[in-house]
Amino acid sequence: MKSILLRMGELFLKGENRGMFENMLISNIRKKLEGLNYKLQRTRGRIMITDFDEQQEVVERLTKVFGLVSLSVAEEVDATVENIEQYVSTIKIGAKTFKVDVNRADKRFPVSSMEFAADLGGVILDANSNASVELYHPEVIVCVDIRNNGKAYIFDKVIKCQGGLPLSTSGRALLLLSGGIDSPVAGYMMAKRGLKLHAIHFYSYPYTSQQAKQKVITLAQQLCEYVDDIKLHCISFTKVQEEIHAKCAPEFMITIMRRIMMRVAEIIAKREDLGAIVTGESLGQVASQTMQSMTVTEDALESLPIFRPCIGLDKEDIVKIAKEIGTFETSILPYEDCCTVFLPKNPVIKPKLAKARSEEANLDVEALVNECIAGEEVIHIKSY
Ligand code: ATP
Ligand code: MG
Repeated sequence: MKSILLRMGELFLKGENRGMFENMLISNIRKKLEGLNYKLQRTRGRIMITDFDEQQEVVERLTKVFGLVSLSVAEEVDATVENIEQYVSTIKIGAKTFKVDVNRADKRFPVSSMEFAADLGGVILDANSNASVELYHPEVIVCVDIRNNGKAYIFDKVIKCQGGLPLSTSGRALLLLSGGIDSPVAGYMMAKRGLKLHAIHFYSYPYTSQQAKQKVITLAQQLCEYVDDIKLHCISFTKVQEEIHAKCAPEFMITIMRRIMMRVAEIIAKREDLGAIVTGESLGQVASQTMQSMTVTEDALESLPIFRPCIGLDKEDIVKIAKEIGTFETSILPYEDCCTVFLPKNPVIKPKLAKARSEEANLDVEALVNECIAGEEVIHIKSY
């Protein structure tokens, strides 16, 4: 019988929390496989999926579940020497060299791993006269994994999955999602560490277009391949920007904008019971991402932490991840971010907190923030 063998990652490290992690992982797997036929079985250290119809679809979806390190499509047989030998004798190697690896998780199995691997190598040679055994650089590795459930799993491919921690096991956070390259990557990276995401997007209609907003919705949909669903909070920022433009020193435009974004984000995060704010900032990338700028931005937050997973990455590294997770092509479509509206010629690179606060004092910040929140539009985004 065909079976998909799933390997879990860091769950091993979690001691007594392991049960909770495994339960969450399984519930996430079930969510991901919704609408497909399958059976799920767990044994110590592995999860098995059997009785599925659409192998490719099942595999593809499973490769996007955080907390799984790898998977193999395997033949499942009852773990007796005869059964395993019988199945292995039907394998067509299709290469010049191979070796057999036996992993005996179930020590009740009567033959040692080494001995059994040698035995099975002989069985394969008998059926594949053109192939030879090569222990160091074989083209094909036939793996036999004997598990505690009395079954053996035989496969020759290991497909890499995402790794990380199961979604939601670290809590929930609010991602500041622009239409750029960095913020979707930041969302992916934090979700991979077990954070369930909401997203917030600021737009400045009519200075930014409907397409710019649609682009963000598309990016959120693409992230949903990994995070299942996202509640996207869209906030009109036009009034805030016009007010800052009219009343504050131009070089502080972006600084103050970002401080107000943080305030709005924090209020929504607290209302939605989210424990952190996530941004795509990378140290030194632009004027608003210097250490001093980030300090002044953060000062606007009352108590939530900001997670910036891209902080130490080069643009190149971020682009690489964006391509891997499938958001890059959307991110590079032309668009206007609200941050590019009323952009000053010379934004401060090292803003002083006192000066930022005094510029901000020209505004009725509380009223502006409240107006942003009153105009909030919520969009529920799902992957399938
Ligand atoms: P990105 O590629 O994510 O747009 P960026 O390099 O263009 O980032 P900035 O425009 O300075 O950098 O934005 C820094 C971070 O602030 C973004 O990664 C994102 O988390 C947040 N951000 C910027 N603009 C918006 C917006 N319009 N709505 C929500 N968050 C935003
Ligand atoms: Mg941007």
